[in-house]
This record gives sequence, C-alpha cells and structure tokens, in this order.
Amino acid sequence: MKSQLITDNRQLTTLRERDAKHIWHPLTQHKTHPEVIPIVKAKGSVLYGEDGSEYIDGIASWYTSMYGHCNDYVIGKVYDQMQQLDQIVFSGFTHEPAIELSEKLMKVLPSNQQKVFFSDNGSTSTEIGIKMALQYHHNKGNQRDTILAFEEAFHGDTFGAMSASGLSVYNGPFEDHFIKVVRVPIPTKGNVANVLKQLEELVIDHNIAGFIYEPLVQGAAGMKMYKAEHLEPLLEVCKQHEIICIADEVMTGFGKTGTHFASDQISVKPDVICMSKSLTAGLIPMAVTSCTQQIYDAFYSNDMGKGLFHAHTYTANPLSCTAAIAGVELLLSESIQNAIKNINVSHIQFGRSVEDHSKVTNIRVQGVIFAFDLNIEMERYGALRDQLFDHFKSEGVFLRPLGNTIYILPAFTILSKELDAIYNSIKVLLGKV
Ligand SMILES: *Cc1c(COP(=O)(O)O)cnc(C)c1O
Repeated sequence: MKSQLITDNRQLTTLRERDAKHIWHPLTQHKTHPEVIPIVKAKGSVLYGEDGSEYIDGIASWYTSMYGHCNDYVIGKVYDQMQQLDQIVFSGFTHEPAIELSEKLMKVLPSNQQKVFFSDNGSTSTEIGIKMALQYHHNKGNQRDTILAFEEAFHGDTFGAMSASGLSVYNGPFEDHFIKVVRVPIPTKGNVANVLKQLEELVIDHNIAGFIYEPLVQGAAGMKMYKAEHLEPLLEVCKQHEIICIADEVMTGFGKTGTHFASDQISVKPDVICMSKSLTAGLIPMAVTSCTQQIYDAFYSNDMGKGLFHAHTYTANPLSCTAAIAGVELLLSESIQNAIKNINVSHIQFGRSVEDHSKVTNIRVQGVIFAFDLNIEMERYGALRDQLFDHFKSEGVFLRPLGNTIYILPAFTILSKELDAIYNSIKVLLGKV
C-alpha cells in the first residue's frame, strides 16, 4: 500500500495534477472550471508561473499586497519578530507588536476611533462589527434585533456577514438561516430622496441595531462607486436613532480610495470600522475592528456577561501585528503617498483615452481604483467571464473582471511600465470586442 502511494506521487508530476487530487478551491465549480494556474513565486507586481509564464498582478491579489509582493521591508521586520515572540494567547497576555499597532492605527484612523479588537480575516472583522452593534443595544436593554445593509453589499462569508451581503450565488443556499437584515439601495443623485424615505420607514417598522456599509466603493458588487454627499444624510438618520454605523473598510482601507480610509472623505464618522486585506501588507492574514469609546463603554461593566466574548485562537498574532505595523509605516511614507497620487492621475488619463470607445461605459476612478463596464449584450455574460480572464492571461496580466466590469486595483508600488502594460491589455481587448 505504501509503495503504491509513493508511485502515485511520482506519477503526479505537475503542481496542477497534484492540486486536483486533494484540493477544493474557493469560489470554484470544479466540474466546469478544473484549471488552476500554479504560481511558484511573486515579487513586486509580478507573479511567476510554474511553466515560466509571468503575470502582472493588476489587483494586488485581492487588494492585499498593496506594497508589492514579498516586500523586503515587511519581510525583514516579520523575520526579526519571529526570533523574539511567535504566538501568545491574547486573552490575559499582551505584547509590544499589538500595542504598537494599536498606537499606529490611532494615527491613521478617523479621530473618533479609540479601541481595536483583533481577529483573523475580513469576514470576522465585519461579523464582530455586527456583534458589537447587536450587543451594544442588548447591554443597554434596548430591543434591537435587525441590521441595515445595502443591496448588493459584500461583507464576507460567515453567517452574519453573509446575511448582510446582497443575495447571490455565494449566500443563496443559506438564506433561511440568516440573521434579520433589511436593505436599501446605494444612494445616488437620482434616488437619494427616495432611499431616505425608505430608511425612515424601516427605522419605524424595524428595530435596527446597526447599519453596515462599504463606504464610497462596493468592491465585490463590481467596484460600484457612490458619493459621500449621498451617504451622509443616511448616516445622519442612523445617528439620530442610535443605529451603530459600521464602515466595512476591508477593501477601501489603507489608501486605496486616495485617503487613509474612505470614511475620511465622509463628514459623518462611523462608530465601528472593519479592516483586513492590506492591513497586513499581504503577508499574513489578520483583521481589526475598531470602535469609539462609546461602544467600548457599553461593554465595560462589573457584569461579566456584558463583555464581548468573541475570540479567535490566533487573535493579535505578533507576526501579523508586525506585518501590519510595517504596512502602516509604508502607507505613511512619502513615496507611497506620491505613488497613490500618480496612479490616480494615470487612471484618469487612461480613462480619457478610452472613454469614447463604443464598448466602454461608466468609467469611474477613486484613488487607485479604476473601473468601467463593458457595453456588451447580456446573453454573452456567462462565457464572458472566462473569455476576459483568458484574454488578460494571454496578455500576461492578472485581472479578475466582475461580470462585465473590468477593474484595476494595482499595488501602490507598481512600476509605470507595468501599469502601462495593463492599460494596453485593456486596449487590445477593446480592439477585439
Ligand atoms: C474581502 C472583503 C470581505 C471579506 O474578507 P475576507 O478576508 O475575504 O473574509 C468583507 N468585506 C469587504 C468589503 C471585502 O472586500
């Protein structure tokens, strides 16, 4: 039996074949999409394939590696930390990297934020935000059991986060098990008065504890952008009714919208902010949910049961915290701040150069995020995703279009020749569609 296994392993020569044997990939229907691309190395904005192929990473691997893959500064700091303290229970113990990170985050977060609660990933950060809102009211003796969210939102794949996300193929099978959520559309110039009216009715008919929203840009919905001035009146209504405002900045946080946080551009500040993805510079998973003193105080009590009894084993892992400290230091550096401005200018210029194309519609730019919609007939949607992905792959570019939306969200450190190659791959596509 043993020798049989060894022979099997020898026969499975490529990474792709060995992968297919035991691995179940996320967001993948293995029957129709058996192909995966083995990557053996990543540096800066380049991904290196097992077969010698190279791809420019146009979305910073889901907006995590914003300072480039395998960033030497981040790696160096984490390597040093590894020699000192690797992991410790964060209930009853504390350590320098967590404390330093909390201090660093206070310097970049909106000034009303006072406390940070650690977890592992974006979904847990929003899950904790939702729990903070529900338990805040529970602790105060208020009967509030419902969360308000935007239609087409995406907040993650755990149950609270799924419940608050717009219905789709991701969460559809679990709909009967969701927590109570009511929804309104994202506000635009045309509908804001109507959305406000809907919100005011919902506030009367339901016991809303919290409002979770992706500020300025809804990522997974297709980089849908909306304006601060249209969100502000909704947030004001929430504040008037003591509805806890939870900004899900898992995607928008840490410079991507042109400011440290998208909430910096919105006059009404959130009570709770969820962070993950590029928080740790793409090196190690971690998340933080920050909140105001007012939220924290509602849990501060002689009554044990009023505490926030949520923990993950790797909470505030010292290595993750160190990666996050390095990330915030890089974010604040002059070179990264300049890069953010330069990428924004390049995106605007590129947008102008394609705006008259008949297949290009709804060009939008926010910070380093560029998106447009392909003006293509609906019937072709299903196959379109694969066609687009294959096109960019053949151009040596990794982009991951969302439906008919093509977006770029590059690392701040992308070289201008790499960014030009991405733009060019889009121009080549427009010549074909
Ligand atoms: C990615 C994302 C999440 C979920 O984060 P995970 O780390 O994938 O669990 C939640 N909210 C937003 C806005 C995201 O972009």
